[in-house]
Amino acid sequence: MMVTPQGDATAYVRMRTPAGAPLRWTQGCALMSPSERTPPELPLADLVAALSAAAGNWSRATSACSAIAIHPRAPGPRRAAPDGVGALLVLTGRWGRGQVDYDPSAAAVTTLAFQNRPGQAEDGIITDADIELNGVGFFFAIVDPAAPTALPGPGPGQRLADLENTLTHELGHVLGLGHNCWDRQTATPPLQHDGHPAPPCDGPLTPALRTATMFPYAADGETSKRTPSEDDIRGICEAYPKDEPLPPCEQTVQGGCQAVRGRTMRPRAILLLAVLGLVATCGRVRMRGRLRISYS
Ligand SMILES: [Zn+2]
Repeated sequence: MMVTPQGDATAYVRMRTPAGAPLRWTQGCALMSPSERTPPELPLADLVAALSAAAGNWSRATSACSAIAIHPRAPGPRRAAPDGVGALLVLTGRWGRGQVDYDPSAAAVTTLAFQNRPGQAEDGIITDADIELNGVGFFFAIVDPAAPTALPGPGPGQRLADLENTLTHELGHVLGLGHNCWDRQTATPPLQHDGHPAPPCDGPLTPALRTATMFPYAADGETSKRTPSEDDIRGICEAYPKDEPLPPCEQTVQGGCQAVRGRTMRPRAILLLAVLGLVATCGRVRMRGRLRISYS
């Protein structure tokens, strides 16, 4: 039987509310700030530099056609909570939060908070985005693409993940993009922008899908996701078109964004979407077939 690779050259997925509204910011930036606490093997300066580089990767790729950007902010005492302050944290000791243990194969988890108001204009407005990095199972470093092995290397049981590669992918989630293929962690495939179901990640895929930043797998030490693909860029530029300017950022809230200024948000109306191992990850899995690839 002939198997035809699935996915066209302009396929991307936006994350959506239960009622189907795309998740989106309603101001011109998403502010992200690292926690000032990092593990000894990961200097804070490296985390700051990688966040800045990853934000810049999206800005350079989309500034000509989109109205949004990610603005890194100074480190501080951050926490992963729907507090309106975009936080970047490295978890050590335990890979999980509250009652939830995260997928150990996931290198990162991005959690978005958004307004869940089916049928209303506010449905899908993002109010908070936090990224947690798995410092338990992964050794994060800034990998030199020209010399990917020129590092001390991960500890026993750890895998190597390039910080900038991981963060560029996670920042795609922060902006509202989902994975560009179906990783079977949900009951049904996510819908591409054109309404078609995303193809299974473990099926035949076009090179355009496999090489996109929002493809949910990566090899150890991979750096190629630092560069958003045409599909990734189109996803951002169609979600935030430059000819529809957004209000400037609110920069006064503890270094974070208030996505809905002047509005009292009722906690009941806020839904947390944790894009867990399935959506924001970097762990090795053996897929059906001969490929040995990993989440990112
Ligand atoms: Zn992801």
